Amino acid sequence: MCGIIGYIGKRQALPLLVEGLRRMEYRGYDSAGVAVAMPSGIFTAHAVGMINALDEKLAALSGLAGTLGIGHTRWATHGGVTEQNAHPHADCTGDVWVAHNGIIENYSELKNELTARGHVFRSETDTEVLPHLIEEAARAYPEAGLGEQVRVALQKIIGTYGIVVLDRRAPETLIAARNFSPLLIGIGGGGIGDGEYFVASDASAVLKHTKEVIYLDDGEIAVLTPRGHHVSDLGRNTRTKTSERIEWTDDEVKKDGYAHFMLKEIHGEPEAIENSIRGRIVLEEGGARLGGLADALGVLREAQRILIVGCGTAYHAGRIGEYMLEEYASIPVETDIASEFRYRKPVFRPGDVLLAISQSGETADTLAAVREAKQKGVFTLGIVNVVGSSIARETHAGVYQHIGPEIGVASTKAFTSQVAILALLTLLVGRQRDMSLVTGERIGSELKKIPDLMREILKQERAIKKIAAKYKNAQNFFFLGRKYNLPVALEGALKLKEISYVHAEGCGAGELKHGPIAMIDKHLPSICIVPHDSTYEKMISNMEEIRARKGPIIAIATEGDERVQTIADDVIYIPKTLEMLTPLLSVIPLQLFAYHFGVQHGHDVDKPRNLAKSVTVE
Ligand code: GLU
Repeated sequence: MCGIIGYIGKRQALPLLVEGLRRMEYRGYDSAGVAVAMPSGIFTAHAVGMINALDEKLAALSGLAGTLGIGHTRWATHGGVTEQNAHPHADCTGDVWVAHNGIIENYSELKNELTARGHVFRSETDTEVLPHLIEEAARAYPEAGLGEQVRVALQKIIGTYGIVVLDRRAPETLIAARNFSPLLIGIGGGGIGDGEYFVASDASAVLKHTKEVIYLDDGEIAVLTPRGHHVSDLGRNTRTKTSERIEWTDDEVKKDGYAHFMLKEIHGEPEAIENSIRGRIVLEEGGARLGGLADALGVLREAQRILIVGCGTAYHAGRIGEYMLEEYASIPVETDIASEFRYRKPVFRPGDVLLAISQSGETADTLAAVREAKQKGVFTLGIVNVVGSSIARETHAGVYQHIGPEIGVASTKAFTSQVAILALLTLLVGRQRDMSLVTGERIGSELKKIPDLMREILKQERAIKKIAAKYKNAQNFFFLGRKYNLPVALEGALKLKEISYVHAEGCGAGELKHGPIAMIDKHLPSICIVPHDSTYEKMISNMEEIRARKGPIIAIATEGDERVQTIADDVIYIPKTLEMLTPLLSVIPLQLFAYHFGVQHGHDVDKPRNLAKSVTVE
C-alpha cells in the first residue's frame, strides 16, 4: 500500500529518494522516512505527515553525501501514525535498516521471541521484527553476505512484504525482496552493469531516470550492487529475469496545469476511452478484437458463467459489466467484492471464467481471488491498467486499459475505461453467441462516439461546481439509479465519501421505499440518475416520492428532457447514448460534483485521509 524507494549508484541518493517518495505519495502518506549510508555512518530522518514534512527536516542537512539509501511513505497497519513508527526501521545496532510494505502476520510471536533474546524494539510496528531478525542472521552467518542474511530472516516470516534493506557494513549492497506486495527494480545508468539501480513500489517513482524495469515475483530476493544484480528465491535458486520497458512518459505523471491529478484525470477521460478502445472495435463484423484474449477465445466460447471480482470502483465497473454481458451476450454473470469472494466458499462449476478488475493490478484481495480460482482450475482473465503488474502476470489472459498512470487516489478515468472494456468484452462474447451483426455494429459505433459526448459534459463543469456549492452544507446524500445506473449511483456515493468525508449512500431507486426513504427530509439531497431509458418512468416515480417528502433533488437527465425540470431542483444534462453505455456519461457529472464538493470543503482531494491508491494489504 505504501511507497518504497531504494537507490544504489554513483549519484547522491537523498534527492533521488525524496523525489521518488514524492511521486509515490499517493500510495500512502501518513508518515515518511529515509535512511542513507554515508562514510561516517547511517543518516536517517522520519516525519509524520506528507513528504513536505520530511523535506523540512532534510533542508537543514543539504550536502549529505551518500550513494546508497532507502525511503518509505507509510500507510499504517500496525502501530499509530507517529514518528517512531515511521519507516525505515533499524536493528539494535543501528546498522541494518528496512523499509517495508505489507503485514507480517506472525510479528507478535517473533517480537516476543526476539525481546526474550534481548532485542530492544523502538516502534509498535510489525515491520521492526525484520531488522532484528536480520541482525541475528548477520551474527550467526557473518560471512554470508547481506542477501543471504535477509533470506534467513525472511524464512521466519509469515505474511506479505515488499522490502528494501541496507546495512552500514555492506555499503555496496542494496537488497529488495517481495512477497505479495509490488516491487520493481529500475535499471539506471543507461543499462545493466553501469552500476545504478532503483527499487520502487511502482514505476512512476523511477520513470524520470529509467524506463527499463524488472518486476520481482513473490518469494524473490534481489541483491543489487554497482557491479550488477542477482535475483534468487527463498530456496537459493537463481531466477533469470528479463527487463521490461515502461511506455509511460514522465510527463504523464505531472498535473499539466490542473489543480489536482483528480481533475486532470476527469478531463482526461475522453482520451482515456479513446486509448482503451483504439483498434479494438471491428465495426464490419459488429465485434471486438482484444489482442490479450486471442488465446482465450475458445475458452470464452465454451464458457458457462463469468464471475467478476473487484474492489471499490472496480467492483462497480464489474456490476455494469454484469448487466451488459447478461443482456447482450446471454451469459450468466455474477459480480462479487473480491474480499468476500475469497473468504466465503465460492462454488465453481465447469465452464466458469473468473474476470478480475484492478487498475493497479496489485489489489491484494483481487489478486487473492485470482489465485483461489486458479488453484481450483478456473480460467482467469484480467482487466488491468498497470502493465506487468501481478494480476496481469498471473491471469491466463487479459486486457490492458492503456490509460496511462492514474495518480488521484479516487479513481475516475480507470472506472470509465474499465466500463468501456467491459462493453468490448460484451461485443466479443456476444458475437460468439447470439448477438446479431446489427446490434454489434450499433454498440460498436455508439461506443466510438462516447469520447466526444464526454467532452460535451465536461464543458458543464462550471455549472456543476455551482451546484456543489449550493449543497455545501448537506451532511448526507443519496445517490439513486436503476439498472445500468445503479452501480453508477454506488460509484457517485463512493467518490463523494472518499474525498469530502461527507456521508453518502448509493442505492437502487426501487429499493428506496424498502427502508432508506425514512431518511428523506428537506436536509437530505438525492442525486437521481434518470436518463431516458427503460427505467425512466420508474425513476420519475421515485423522484416524485422524494419530492413529496420535501427532499431536494439533483437530477442527471438526458438532454432535452424538460419533464425532469418540473420535479428536480437542479438538473445536469448528459447526451443520449445506448442504455448500456449511459454509465460512461452519467458518472462524469458525479465525479465533477464530488471533486468540487471536496475542494470546497478544503480537502486535498488527491490524497484523501486514511486512503491509499493501490490497496496491497488485505
Ligand atoms: N505494516 C507496516 C506498518 O504498519 C507497513 C505498512 C505499509 O505498508 O505502509 O508500519
